[in-house]
Amino acid sequence: MAMIRVENLHKHFGGFHAVDGATLEIEKGSITGLIGPNGAGKTTLFNVIAGVLPPTSGKVLMDGEDITGLPPHALFSKGLLRTFQVAHEFHSMTVRENLMMVPPGQSGENLWSAWFHAARVREEEARIRARANEVLEFLTIDHIADEKAGQISGGQKKLLELGRTMMTDAKIVFLDEVGAGVNRTLLNTIADAILRLNKEQGYTFVVIEHDMDFIGRICNPVICMAEGKVLAEGTLDQIKANEQVIEAYLGT
Ligand code: ADP
Repeated sequence: MAMIRVENLHKHFGGFHAVDGATLEIEKGSITGLIGPNGAGKTTLFNVIAGVLPPTSGKVLMDGEDITGLPPHALFSKGLLRTFQVAHEFHSMTVRENLMMVPPGQSGENLWSAWFHAARVREEEARIRARANEVLEFLTIDHIADEKAGQISGGQKKLLELGRTMMTDAKIVFLDEVGAGVNRTLLNTIADAILRLNKEQGYTFVVIEHDMDFIGRICNPVICMAEGKVLAEGTLDQIKANEQVIEAYLGT
């Protein structure tokens, strides 16, 4: 059974069909790439799957369970996460503090729930700090742990976004444009981190990205969308050779 199954999903904005009957499956343990020309509906699809936007019609199933329209916090507790840019209000906190403040939702393993059990606060905080340190090391950003999040580079912010997912019990992570504005060296670090999280910690990923080298390096399968629909699925080479895909890209 697919980990995520999207069935005939539609998302309309007024008369505009941003997602127009998309059907696709994400296998557990995969790193699936989602590509397509600008305006294809990729981000809207992510937002509907992740509970940020309600669908107009259609279904989203996770491990066979209907999760259509569940709010983000309910999906979070099931291990489904969509990363967002580090919010402005967290810019004045350090990178380590950003990791330690990941919102509540799972296993009581966070500072917020610890506040309510004063005797355990110190123990919990030490454990969360230790986990944050592991994450910083894993992502090779330990040298910027005490810098303010607002002052690190765009690529380092992307690594911090990934790091925040690692502070949770995420099973499937939706990454939107991980490589946007990121230099090649950091992009390789991000690719390595995703591959390692996938192989060593069993994370499933769905990745929207325009950089085809990045997609080719880490994603299989690749799904191509255009005009709100799924056009093709396969390896990146198969997708690149698909005539409908070529036409869709040329048409933009
Ligand atoms: P992609 O991520 O593939 O570039 P998007 O999902 O961002 O595509 O957008 C698909 C289409 O839906 C675009 O034409 C965009 O302008 C439109 N769209 C996205 N969000 C909204 C919205 N909130 N209101 C109206 N139109 C939207």
